Amino acid sequence: MAERVLKKVCLLGDGAIGKTSLIRRFVFDQFDDRYIMTFGTKVVKKMVSMKKDGRDLEVTLMIWDILGQRMHDPLHAAYYQGASGALIGFDITRKETFDNMREWVAAFRKASPNSHLLFFANKSDLPNWEVTEEQFNDLSKEFGAPPMLTSAKMGKNVEESFAEIARMMC
Ligand code: GDP
Ligand code: MG
Repeated sequence: MAERVLKKVCLLGDGAIGKTSLIRRFVFDQFDDRYIMTFGTKVVKKMVSMKKDGRDLEVTLMIWDILGQRMHDPLHAAYYQGASGALIGFDITRKETFDNMREWVAAFRKASPNSHLLFFANKSDLPNWEVTEEQFNDLSKEFGAPPMLTSAKMGKNVEESFAEIARMMC
């Protein structure tokens, strides 16, 4: 019998980096080119099976899409509450979204100090990168977060990112 666990994971980062698209790809295996603003909290569930230390685990991920796009929204503390981990990311074609990563990490860590982090660089299918893989890897190393080059559009490293954070949280 597999052991069942329930874990909350938050998706964080600037507006339009592809948070909602990554969740949609992972949960529904769909992609939409339209930009759909996320108003209010959206929570979706998805189950991930894995083996850890010889045990069979069935992890139900409660995936929280962000409330709004403003970084310093006082509501965010409630959104982060009880999270075991976060996927924090940026749009690799917009440097300023990379520069804001530290602030997202700080805000999340303040509310959830012992939780796990995974960093993602999304839209890696596009050609006009403004951040190098080396810069991304350096930042990830600094925070001890595994780096993932993702594309919600192509489905690249999407399953892998959620599977990895699930493994880290267990
Ligand atoms: P959010 O605000 O972070 O939730 O971002 P969205 O998921 O709403 O995506 C913002 C825009 O970027 C939409 O037009 C998406 O179609 C587009 N987008 C999201 N992920 C990707 C990706 O991996 N590649 C490309 N080319 N576009 C993407
Ligand atoms: Mg969104």
